[in-house]
Amino acid sequence: MTSLEDFADWADGRRGALRMEAFYRFAREHHGVLLDGRDPAGGRWSFDTEKREPPPKDGRLDVPAPPMPKEDDIDAEVRADLDRWAREGIRFTGRDGPRRFPATAREARARLRHFLRHRLTAFGRYEDAMVSTDPWLAHSLLSSSFNLGLLDPVEAVRGAEQAYRLQGAPLAAVEGFVRQVMGWRDYLWHTYWYFGKGGRDSNELGARRSLPDWWRDLDADAVDARCLRDVLAGVRDRAWVHHIPRLMVLGNYALQRGWRPAELVEWFHTRFVDGYEWVMTGNVVGTSQYADLGRTTTKPYVAGGAYINRMSDYCGGCRYDPHQRLGEDACPFTAGYWAFLAGNRSRIPASARMARTLKQLSRLGDLDAVVAQEKRRGSDPP
Ligand SMILES: Cc1cc2nc3c(=O)[nH]c(=O)nc-3n(C[C@H](O)[C@H](O)[C@H](O)COP(=O)(O)OP(=O)(O)OC[C@H]3O[C@@H](n4cnc5c(N)ncnc54)[C@H](O)[C@@H]3O)c2cc1C
Ligand code: SF4
Repeated sequence: MTSLEDFADWADGRRGALRMEAFYRFAREHHGVLLDGRDPAGGRWSFDTEKREPPPKDGRLDVPAPPMPKEDDIDAEVRADLDRWAREGIRFTGRDGPRRFPATAREARARLRHFLRHRLTAFGRYEDAMVSTDPWLAHSLLSSSFNLGLLDPVEAVRGAEQAYRLQGAPLAAVEGFVRQVMGWRDYLWHTYWYFGKGGRDSNELGARRSLPDWWRDLDADAVDARCLRDVLAGVRDRAWVHHIPRLMVLGNYALQRGWRPAELVEWFHTRFVDGYEWVMTGNVVGTSQYADLGRTTTKPYVAGGAYINRMSDYCGGCRYDPHQRLGEDACPFTAGYWAFLAGNRSRIPASARMARTLKQLSRLGDLDAVVAQEKRRGSDPP
């Protein structure tokens, strides 16, 4: 929505000390979105604190599933071409299945209309929840349409504002969606170009390990950890999982293991339906791997099993225990969390939040044993 020139004017005035929240506020004012006079609708720029609810107990959101595109002769031709290439030796990852994402502007518009009418109301509230039986929840599934140029983000933002003003959609949900589209999406696009391809080669934590084959091949069946198994299977079967599985399961696991950010960017880029280098760089190198030491985000997104346990229904049926960091039942995320902090404590810039965590770390009597256990685990599937 924001032009390159307007972004540069805004960013130059801040001498490189950029934050998404400040850009988002600038963009809302500049484009006159969700404003009452000069003030933000509802009196606040962000309703972020009102989201992040865990999934409902029965795992069901009261919203209809997104309608899927109807395949036609062109789909059949494309599938035949892909099958032929596979027979001729071209190697693909992922599994064939029905097409789930729009391939024409018409399909993209239909998906937007359905989302605004039936699913937007639940967007903010459960944005961070993960449910094993429902990969879509209330997400819009519009990223590939925006990125392919099938749908104008301006149309989506204006449509969401209209849903608030005319159809009574809750402001927190609408603001949450608008922030993702004209805030995060635009911010990552602009910082990529503004900083000269966004620092895609940054590796400030010095991560040196290569991605293992089971990860590269999306071999979900090799994995016991229920959350990671389900999310990898989602990438294999749909080329899409929502933001939190990308950040807090896939990215978190890779960060803990010290995998090279550039390899991870390439992996995300080629495995996801919405993958583009400009958007992967900010999300993977910056937000998820903290490889730019805080230019994109204020803290590393690293977490143990307790987070996944709170925000999903995965842990109940898992052979690991999210509360254990040592021993046979140790959750790989919990153990990996402490091992990561132990290995990177001198590299992570100090902040009040990190100081608390590092104090906890220094009190762990079994830290050496946890680190040794994680070294032994190496790059085997958990
Ligand atoms: C490690 C990692 C990799 C990612 N890679 C990509 C990618 O290659 N392509 C991509 O489009 N998004 C990427 N994202 C951002 C986000 O996860 C996806 O845009 C979102 O999950 C797509 O699903 P959706 O359309 O249902 O989004 P919704 O949850 O419905 O959000 C609405 C829209 O907001 C935009 N948006 C939301 N969050 C972001 C974000 N962090 N960055 C940019 N745009 C955002 C998208 O256009 C999205 O369609 C990545 C996030 C992470 C943590
Ligand atoms: S116990 Fe750990 S590995 Fe298992 S589902 Fe929970 S977070 Fe994932």
